[in-house]
Amino acid sequence: PPLEWDYDTALSDRENYLTPVLKTFQATTNPILFKSGLGQYLFDSDGNRYIDTVAMNQAISAGYRSPYVMAAVREQLEDMQHCSTMWMHPGPASLAKALVSKMPPGDWVVHFMSSGTEAVDLALIMARNYTQRHTIVSLRSAYHGAVGATANATTSIARFHQKIPSVSGIVHVTNPDQYRGIHGPGVEPYLAEFRSSIAASTNGEIAAYIFEPIQGYGGVIPLPSEYVQKTSTLARELGGVVIADEVQTAVGRTGAHFFGFTEHDIVPDMVVMAKGIGNGFPLSAVIARRDIAEAMTSRTFMSTMGSNPTCCAAGRGVIAALDHGGLQENAKIVGAQALVMFKELQSRYEVIGDVRGRGLMIGMELVKDRDTKEPATELVAALADEISDSVIITKAGAHANVVRLVPPLCLTAQDAADVVDRLDSALRRLLKHEYPKD
Ligand code: PMP
Repeated sequence: PPLEWDYDTALSDRENYLTPVLKTFQATTNPILFKSGLGQYLFDSDGNRYIDTVAMNQAISAGYRSPYVMAAVREQLEDMQHCSTMWMHPGPASLAKALVSKMPPGDWVVHFMSSGTEAVDLALIMARNYTQRHTIVSLRSAYHGAVGATANATTSIARFHQKIPSVSGIVHVTNPDQYRGIHGPGVEPYLAEFRSSIAASTNGEIAAYIFEPIQGYGGVIPLPSEYVQKTSTLARELGGVVIADEVQTAVGRTGAHFFGFTEHDIVPDMVVMAKGIGNGFPLSAVIARRDIAEAMTSRTFMSTMGSNPTCCAAGRGVIAALDHGGLQENAKIVGAQALVMFKELQSRYEVIGDVRGRGLMIGMELVKDRDTKEPATELVAALADEISDSVIITKAGAHANVVRLVPPLCLTAQDAADVVDRLDSALRRLLKHEYPKD
C-alpha cells in the first residue's frame, strides 16, 4: 500500500509500533515528518524547507539526492540489487581501489561491512587476531558503536550505556579535552595518564589503540596532534595496532583532508569508515594493512550484506561527488566561514563557552557559567525546539550540552549564516538578552 503522509497517523504509528528508545536520541521534542531531501535541505510533507545541520546523523555527506550517488545507484539497481561477498562483482573492488587511493602509500586492503558498529567490531577482531593480544585502549568520551565490544569501547557517555555486561580487556583513558578535560589544557598529563592507566590494568601488552581524530558524539572534541602521535607510538611499543575510527571524520568532512588522521600527521594501521561513505546507504569499511587482514585467513568470516554492490555504488558516487563536485573544498571554505560566524556569536553570548571544529564538523558548547563550565544542557533542547521550524540541529557531549553541526558537505555560506541567525534570535529570546550585549 502507498505510504500515508498524515502527520498524526505517522506520529501515533511511530509511538505504537516502533521502539520507544528511539525518542531518547533526538534533540527536539517535536519530531518532524520529513518527506524529501535535496542537497543540504529537508522538506516536510507540506513542502516546508529545513536546513539540515545533522545530515541524518552524518550519513548524508554528498547531499540528499546527490546526482553522482543517484546515477551510480540507479545503474546498479538496473542490473541486480545484491551480490553477496563470496561471489565476484566488480563494484566492491572498484570502490576499495578508490578508497586505497586516498590512503598514504602502503599495502592496504578493504573489508566492507554495513554499519559503523560492525566495522569497528571487525577492526577489533582483526587487531586481536593479528597481535594475539586482547586489550583494547580507548578514550573517554569516545563513541565506537552500540553493541558488543564496540559498546564497551564506547566510554563515559552515560546515556549510551545500556545494561550489557562489561567485557574484560578494555582500558579507558582520559581524553585530552582541551576545554573541559580534568587535567586542563595541555598534553603531558594526559600522556602520563595514558601510560599509567595501561600499566595499571594490563600486563604491558595491548592489541589495539582506537581513537576518533575528532571525537564526535563526545562533543566535537579535536584531539591535539602531539597527543595522537605520542599515544600511537606508545601503543605500538606495547605491541598494539593503531585504529583511527573515521566514521565521522572521513570523506572530506574536515575540509583539509579526505581522512581526519592526516591532520595529525600519523598513519594508522587500520581505518574505520561508515556513515558518509554510503551517503545514507548502509555501507562501512575497514581499511587495513594487508598483513593484519591476512591474520584472519586461517578461519572464515563473512557478512551477507557487507560489500553489497548497491551500497558500494553509492560509495563510488560519494567519491565521484568529492573528486568532481568540489565537496571537500566546500567543506574547507564554508567550514572556515561558519567557524568565524559561530565565534562571533560566542563573543555576544556568555552561554557559549566554546566553539571548535574543523571543516564542516563544528561544536558549540553551552555553559551556565564560563568559569565553572556548568553544562547548559536544557538550553540545547530549548534551542533545537525554538528553531525547528527551519533548522535541524543535534546535541552531543557527555553532558548533552554541545550543539554538533555536521551538515551535508554541500552547505553554503548563506546556509551557515541563516543557521547562526536563527540561533542568534533564539538565544536572544530564550535568554531575554539585550542585543547587542554592550
Ligand atoms: N564510530 C563513530 C565515531 C561513530 O560516530 C559511530 C556512530 N555515530 C559509530 C562508530 C557507529 O556507527 P553506526 O551507528 O553506523 O553503527
